[in-house]
Amino acid sequence: MAIQAPEGTFDLLPDEARHWDFFRRTAFEIFGRYGYRPIETPLFEQTELFVRGIGEATDVVSKEMFTAISGGNLQKLLNGEKLKGKSRLSLRPEGTAGVVRAVVQHDLVPQGGAPVKLMYAGPMFRAERPQKGRLRQFRQVGIECLGAEEPTVDAEAIIMLMRFFERIGIPAGDMRLLVNSMGCERCRPAYRELVRDFIRAHVDELCEECNHRAEVNPLRAFDCKNPDCARIMADAPKITDHLCPECREHYEAVKGHLEHAGLSYIEDPKLVRGLDYYTRTVFEVQVDNGMGSQNAIGGGGRYDKLAKEVGGRDTPGLGFALGYERCVLALEAAGANMMSPQSVDVFFACATDDVRPAAFEMAQIVRDAGTTAELDHQHRSLKSQFKLADKLGARRVAILGPDELAQGKVKVRDMGTHEEHLLDIDAMERFFGQFGGKKFGE
Ligand code: AMP
Repeated sequence: MAIQAPEGTFDLLPDEARHWDFFRRTAFEIFGRYGYRPIETPLFEQTELFVRGIGEATDVVSKEMFTAISGGNLQKLLNGEKLKGKSRLSLRPEGTAGVVRAVVQHDLVPQGGAPVKLMYAGPMFRAERPQKGRLRQFRQVGIECLGAEEPTVDAEAIIMLMRFFERIGIPAGDMRLLVNSMGCERCRPAYRELVRDFIRAHVDELCEECNHRAEVNPLRAFDCKNPDCARIMADAPKITDHLCPECREHYEAVKGHLEHAGLSYIEDPKLVRGLDYYTRTVFEVQVDNGMGSQNAIGGGGRYDKLAKEVGGRDTPGLGFALGYERCVLALEAAGANMMSPQSVDVFFACATDDVRPAAFEMAQIVRDAGTTAELDHQHRSLKSQFKLADKLGARRVAILGPDELAQGKVKVRDMGTHEEHLLDIDAMERFFGQFGGKKFGE
C-alpha cells in the first residue's frame, strides 16, 4: 500500500488549507487590534525547556512529548552514550514555553518596561493516543502577554478570545466560558496538600491513575475522565475557598471586568488545566456540539512564575491557545460554511492550437493585473477546455479564435449567465483587472 500520513496527523487539502489561512489571518487581525504582534519560534526546543517550564509531573512532559533527534545522536544513544543537554530536543507540545524562552533570551520586557504582547500560529506535537479532536500534530493560535499582572490584562485576553470565536462563526450560544483561580505560590501549596489528603482518604474509590496523581500532581485528579472519580472529586476541597487575600482580590477583579463587558462565564473551581505553570486566573472555552470527550476549543491562564523558571527575571505573564481542528469540529456542527474554493476569474480557451502562445501571454498579462487566470497546457479540445474551466469554477471563459485575434478581439463568455461579448484586446487588462485581488470569503 502507498505510504499514508502518520497516525494522528492529516493533510490540509487546498480548500482546507485556505480556511486555515483565513482562520489564522482573522485571529491575527483581531489580536492585532489589542496590540499583539506576531512571533515565530522554533518547532523544537531543548527538552529541558519543557521539563522546567511545563513541569516534570504533567502528562504532557511525562509521556506526550515527541523527541527530535539527529541521526548521529540516535546512533550515540544506541551505543549507550549519554547526550549533552543541548542535544536533547523535543518537538514543541505547546507554544507558551518557547515564546517565554524567546522573551527572556531577547530581553523583550526590560525591567520596568511596558508589557510585550505576542501572538503565534502553527503546529504543536503531542504523542497522544489519537481520537476525535485529539491529534498528534495539531494547529494552535495563541497569545502571550508578559510584563503585567493586572487583572485587566486577563479580562482583555478573555474578551478577545471570545470575540475571535464569534467572528469565525462559532455561535455564542454554543460556547461555555469557564473561569477559575489557581492561587499563587503562597496559597496553593497548602491547598494542594488538602487535595492530596482528600485523595488519600478515598484511595479505594478513585482510579489507580488518580492515586498516582496524589503523589506527583494531585490537582490533576480533577481532570480525570472516569465518572466515578469525577463524582468523588466533586466533594474535594475547592481552591476558591482557600485563596489568599491578594489572589481573591485579583480573581474578583477579573470577573468584574468580564461582567462589565457583558460576557457570561461559569465559575468552575475544578478547572485546574493540565500544565504546572499556571497561577491565579485560568479559563477554558468548551463546546458540546460536534465534539467527543475533547470539548475544549481553547484555554489559558496566568503564569507569573514561568519566566523565572526558565531562567529569566521575575516577569508575570498570561496567555491562551486555541485549537484549530477542534474549532473546525465546532464550526461543522454549527453548520458553518467554511469552504470557499478558490475560483478562477478567467479561463483562456483556445479554439485552435496556433493561438496557444497568445493565450499564454494574455493569461500572464491579466495575472500581473491581479486577476486569477488559468489555461490548458495539455492540448485539449475546445470542448474539454470548457469542461476544465467548469471544474475550476471559472467565472468567465475568454475564447481565442484565429479570426477574432486577427481583428484584435477575444470573445468573453460569462459562465453564470452564458452571455457573450467581444472584447478589445487592448481593453483586456483593464476589464479583467477589475475582478482581481479578491480575498477569501469575498
Ligand atoms: P492546551 O495547550 O492543552 O491548553 O490546549 C489548547 C487548545 O489546543 C485546546 O483547547 C484544544 O483546542 C487544542 N488541543 C490541545 N491538544 C490537542 C490535540 N491533541 N489535538 C487537537 N487539538 C488539541
